[in-house]
Amino acid sequence: MPRSTQPSQRVQCTPQPSPEWQLQELMNHLPVVVYRYQLEDGQRPRLLYISEGVQRLTGRPAAEVMANPMLLFGRVHPQDLPQFLAADRQTWHARSDFAQELRFHLPSGEERWLFIRSIPVQQADGAMAYHGFIEDITQRKLDALRAQESDTLLQQIFDASNVAIFLVDREGIITRANGSMATMFKRTNEEIVGSPYVSLVHPDERDVSHQKMLALLASDIDLVDLERLYWRGDGSTFWGNLSGKRFHDSRGHERGLLGVIMDITARRQAQEEIRNLAFYDPLTGLPNRRLLLDRIERGMASCARHGSHGSVVFIDLDNFKTLNDTLGHDTGDMLLTQVAQRLRDCVRQEDTVARLGGDEFIVFLTGLHAQAAHAAAEAESVARKIIDVLSAPYRLGGHVVRSTPSLGIALFHGAGTPANELLKQADMAMYESKADGRNTLRFFDPRMQTAINARAAMEKALYQALEHGEFLLHFQPQVNAHGQCTGVETLLRWRHPEQGMVSPAVFIPVAEQTGQILPIGRWVLEQACCQQVRWQPDPTMRDLEIAINVSARQFKAPGFVQDLEQIILATGANPARLQLELTESILLQDVDECIARMQSLRALGVRFALDDFGTGYSSLAYLKRLPLSQLKIDQSFVRDILSDANDRAICQAVIALAQSMGLRVMAEGVEAAEQWQLLRQQGCAEGQGYLFGRPMPAHELQQWLGDGLRALARLNGCAA
Ligand code: C2E
Ligand code: CA
Ligand code: CA
Repeated sequence: MPRSTQPSQRVQCTPQPSPEWQLQELMNHLPVVVYRYQLEDGQRPRLLYISEGVQRLTGRPAAEVMANPMLLFGRVHPQDLPQFLAADRQTWHARSDFAQELRFHLPSGEERWLFIRSIPVQQADGAMAYHGFIEDITQRKLDALRAQESDTLLQQIFDASNVAIFLVDREGIITRANGSMATMFKRTNEEIVGSPYVSLVHPDERDVSHQKMLALLASDIDLVDLERLYWRGDGSTFWGNLSGKRFHDSRGHERGLLGVIMDITARRQAQEEIRNLAFYDPLTGLPNRRLLLDRIERGMASCARHGSHGSVVFIDLDNFKTLNDTLGHDTGDMLLTQVAQRLRDCVRQEDTVARLGGDEFIVFLTGLHAQAAHAAAEAESVARKIIDVLSAPYRLGGHVVRSTPSLGIALFHGAGTPANELLKQADMAMYESKADGRNTLRFFDPRMQTAINARAAMEKALYQALEHGEFLLHFQPQVNAHGQCTGVETLLRWRHPEQGMVSPAVFIPVAEQTGQILPIGRWVLEQACCQQVRWQPDPTMRDLEIAINVSARQFKAPGFVQDLEQIILATGANPARLQLELTESILLQDVDECIARMQSLRALGVRFALDDFGTGYSSLAYLKRLPLSQLKIDQSFVRDILSDANDRAICQAVIALAQSMGLRVMAEGVEAAEQWQLLRQQGCAEGQGYLFGRPMPAHELQQWLGDGLRALARLNGCAA
């Protein structure tokens, strides 16, 4: 191309470079070396062109390299050469693309990484050529290598660590885990990676754990640290501490969580150990004073919530010191261990048995009855059981020994008393028991103690009342619509040597509980029958029907039927003039048995009245099956019959019911003429009450009946 000679127009006149030249320039300044090959003779490759950049690699101009390609290939790293040549051959053979990375030595001796790539191009003449380039990729290679090294290093740290390290994605699936994780969970890495994190958690905690993890991923909390019970591949479990941290990729996208699990079984065990030492008695394994105080505080709060009572029972072994001194401390320890076991066995799961130290134990009861007296009885029954259980002989090594306890009981209601104070109260009560001769129990509350003492005294006195002849019978007249006395109800009286007359309403329930009702009831039957026989010569008395109260326990006692039969025979009483008053409580169990009994007595001629009717729960279905003669309307309905429409309706209904069943009906507790008048109007034909006569001794009754005028006056006064 001609060049311009005019300097002023130099720019304009600069000859335009030819396209080839431009291309040449471009090739020579590319950051890669461009080349072209051709297959000579269809077999050997010949370098047709290579850009000047090759000089950077070989230190020789392109023309020289083209003339002698070994200037280039001779610099390939000897280790990479065979592989390079093989690939080259293979490429020619298959006419395929070529791509290869290899190490190369610059003339300076420096080692570089080259990437060589060429593609086959079919020439116009049909010959096969290759166009390609050589790129220096040393920097990239170094970067990759460095990255790989740091990754390997990371993996080594990852695997060398003795904690489990893992990644979970946003769905909670484990995407990566280290070797320790596999060891810790006794699973293979393949089993772990790809499975949900929660599959590692103990099944009981899985749901909660899963929810928490999803919540965490959805939140912006960055770090978590929690203790979990984990689940190994072999089904065993261990406690692990999980630290989780949100995990971002290199572009800052959140990818899930990075988790670290540390096996803390040993630490938990140590904690447990410390807890045991701090809160439990090492000899017996029972809670110690510290834990007991805590349980009492909690128990009090719970009792306060439920309105129930609770109780602290203080137990001290009698003569423990002597046993310890004579048989040795080992034997003493054995005794304490067995006492602990017996105590544990005799209370409910929710009660606490604790050892304060030495031979002092505590049983802490909650959920006792809301009524103080009831609660006291419940606590007392547990305490009695404890005395029984602890008093049984102990086998200690070669010895069989006996030990008795002294108990003190403190009741509480609500959360007013501090736990320590309660312990003191129970302790004081326990000393009372010791002072009272040991092997017994005492309540702290003085009032309660008084009530319990009184009851105990009554029980004791009741045992002697029979032999001391302290019982007597009173008789209360029963009248018909005409005011004529047709019968009497036998009512038991106890003339207590110190307390005077004690009401049967007080002592009968106690006698029923202790079983004393059996001999006492038998005595009543005998006396009533004897009385009837005694009245035989007297025409005013002989036809009186004698009603006798029989309590459920007495009626159900085996042999009751035979006893009564034998009494009737022995006394010569007329069974047709005997009526037994039963209450609905006999129907609470074994109705059929009860009916059978009634029927055998009915066969003797004895009749039955159902006492206190209306206060029980008898179903009409049962009532119809009972061989009854009479219903006695309970006095509570009669008392308010004039003022309370409800009671009036009940009386009316009972009367109607009795009539419909063909039973006689008697109103009890009739005190006023107006009451009797109303009852009579309602159809009640028989009555009993202070209006007609109070319960009285037999001799007074005779006088009462003999006083014809008085009886008549009553009749006149009361007749409607
Ligand atoms: P109960 O069988 O309902 O006897 C009637 C009670 O009412 C008697 O009380 C009697 O004294 C009283 N009473 C009679 N008329 C009136 C009146 O007009 N007004 C009032 N307010 N009360 C009246 P008591 O004698 O104290 O007997 C109480 C309970 O003791 C009896 O109730 C009975 O359940 C039981 N009991 C009495 N004696 C015996 C017995 O020998 N054996 C058994 N198992 N229980 C007996
Ligand atoms: Ca009665
Ligand atoms: Ca009654």
